[in-house]
Amino acid sequence: MKQILSVIILLYISLVGHAQEIDQIIDAKEVERIERILAADDMQGRRTFTPGIDKAAAFIAAEFKKNGLQTMKGNKGYFQQITMVKAKVKDLKAIVDGDTLNENTIAISTTAAKLNITSTKGYQVITIKKDENFLEVVPGIAESGKSSIVLVDKVHADKFKRLKNFVSRTKFQSPVNIVFILTDKTPVSYNIRLTNELSIQKLKNVVGILPGRSRKNEYVIFSGHYDHLGVVRPNKDKDSIYNGANDDAAGTTAVIMLSKYFKALKNNERSLVFVAFTAEEIGGFGSQYFSRQLPPSTIMAMFNIEMIGTESKWGTNSAFITGFEKSDFGKILQQNLSGSKFRFEPDPYPDQNLFYRSDNATLAKLGVPAHTISTSKMDSEKYYHTLDDEIETLDMNNMAEVIKAIAISATSIISGKDTPSRVKE
Ligand SMILES: [Zn+2]
Repeated sequence: MKQILSVIILLYISLVGHAQEIDQIIDAKEVERIERILAADDMQGRRTFTPGIDKAAAFIAAEFKKNGLQTMKGNKGYFQQITMVKAKVKDLKAIVDGDTLNENTIAISTTAAKLNITSTKGYQVITIKKDENFLEVVPGIAESGKSSIVLVDKVHADKFKRLKNFVSRTKFQSPVNIVFILTDKTPVSYNIRLTNELSIQKLKNVVGILPGRSRKNEYVIFSGHYDHLGVVRPNKDKDSIYNGANDDAAGTTAVIMLSKYFKALKNNERSLVFVAFTAEEIGGFGSQYFSRQLPPSTIMAMFNIEMIGTESKWGTNSAFITGFEKSDFGKILQQNLSGSKFRFEPDPYPDQNLFYRSDNATLAKLGVPAHTISTSKMDSEKYYHTLDDEIETLDMNNMAEVIKAIAISATSIISGKDTPSRVKE
């Protein structure tokens, strides 16, 4: 009896200790300190390719360091550097089977400064026939990761012109080339010489790790994007800065706070990865790059956090999970929260396709239970993508509660007790 009682007392003390610890570490004041710095005017709206976003990256890295996170192998400190390339055609001479091609009959997607093709060696040859939906096939070819020569039937001549946009887009630096040729034949001789003018653009994610105690090679990711929309011409109130306090300084703040909390807890069996993504607003380049650095099978779950600074449609102490029905991630989180004051609900805005609109999407497409947690009222969030998305419009106390809820909801996944099912298309 006595023994049982002391066990109960011990259990009680450890639970209370636990509760106090989380309240002390994730408190509204600290949340506000971080949020205020990230959403400050001197970050200039954290637009990609500007000094403002570099300043934000340096701040996040300093917080990760302070919180005792390790760096990820292959990265430069906490920075995961990404090289993007925009190629502009300077000179192109293309003769295929004796026919001279022009911009209406050849388009080349490459990040090389010079390209010289005299045969199909090193290329897969793909034929797009009359009855195929040409533009629908293109993304699959681009994602195949193989250099390709794509022979497009002349019936698609009109759509072929649209490839100009595709090939001139900014892309990840890559050894893969894709050559589109408008033709009715299967050519036998190639003589293609291309010279490009390249503009190189650098991006960086900020990444920190807490290695797991026993399951080091099983990763759980906590992420949010730290870029936003920059500076525009002043409006009538003389404001010109997209502070992005909710979108997504809030998620980034959560990532920093969670890293501090889990470091203090020191009990994660799985490895925890904390990521602040760049370039979400301009196409999700940061998360796309990150998703290729770890084998998807080693990623057990991703908690992506977007816009948690306002009350959800259900009021305080609640949030929603996108793609709820696509894995049992959401159910596990709900179980871990049962008995608490928090509610995590399925995304109430399924028409908006949010599951595929945020940084969880790339990993989710690879089968990872990668979901976004948000409180944003997507049908009526007043300051979404406006100059007025400022810290004064956020509720710091509720935001701290949501971050705590995320921490608690992750408990059984971090300990290795639960593993969410994989996402199926
Ligand atoms: Zn946004």
